[in-house]
Amino acid sequence: MEIKELENIVFQTRRDILRMVHKVNSGHPGGSLGCTEFLVALYNEVMELKEGDFDMDGTNEDLFFLSNGHISPVFYSVLAHRGYFSKEELGTFRLLNSRLQGHPTTHEGLPGVRMASGSLGQGLSVALGAAQAKKLNGDNNLVYTLHGDGELQEGQNWEAIMYAAGKNVDNLIATIDFNGQQIDGPTSEVLPLGDLEAKFKAFGWDVLHIKEGNNMEAVVNGLNEAKARTGKGKPVCVLMHTIMGNGVDFMMHTHAWHGKAPNDEQLANGLAQNPETLGDY
Ligand SMILES: [Mg+2]
Repeated sequence: MEIKELENIVFQTRRDILRMVHKVNSGHPGGSLGCTEFLVALYNEVMELKEGDFDMDGTNEDLFFLSNGHISPVFYSVLAHRGYFSKEELGTFRLLNSRLQGHPTTHEGLPGVRMASGSLGQGLSVALGAAQAKKLNGDNNLVYTLHGDGELQEGQNWEAIMYAAGKNVDNLIATIDFNGQQIDGPTSEVLPLGDLEAKFKAFGWDVLHIKEGNNMEAVVNGLNEAKARTGKGKPVCVLMHTIMGNGVDFMMHTHAWHGKAPNDEQLANGLAQNPETLGDY
């Protein structure tokens, strides 16, 4: 897909995120907006996906596991526009009995969701099981994950990071949303992460940076570079530098909108900055 086409999906996805959280006055727009380019690129350009009905076995296609499940608004919008379910269903976000719960679940049966998340720190462990299953099955497709940077404060991650390198799980690309923010403030104040590149390398991973994680061309190129590094004995970590709240000026560069919805006026302002490209749900 052309970069311009991907950017058009990004505009629509930002609108969906704002409208979804505004409607129910809850949800997490900041991290969703920061990872919009990544998820749009992943699902529309980077991953090899099977056409037809979604199945949980996921054999012979690439898989994605969202570990920082609170950014469900961006995940649901991208899945809907990719055809996993109708975009009208986005209007049920966070409602009782909706398949689009605030944090993704699997028992609701929403196509595209492969694990329940929201409790942080678990996604890499789940993805490792799937990646090793692919190896056992002779399935050459890849497994992708996304994690918040603040999420790395959960100890389970570091067990999984050690395991992945120790078992040469080289069909796995773990991306860290490196925005330096978490719900209570900058990561540097809540609990500093230290030198993440050095830490992943010390655990035996191959590490690359996407320095402009909100520039579509940089994201596509970075993910393609990550793909090229798979199959060489090491798991691959992408440190993706993003801006929390990207694309809505008053939400950018702050944790203030991590888990807060815009009011009517703020919604109108945010939508005015993001043209409707594919049709609102
Ligand atoms: Mg963060």
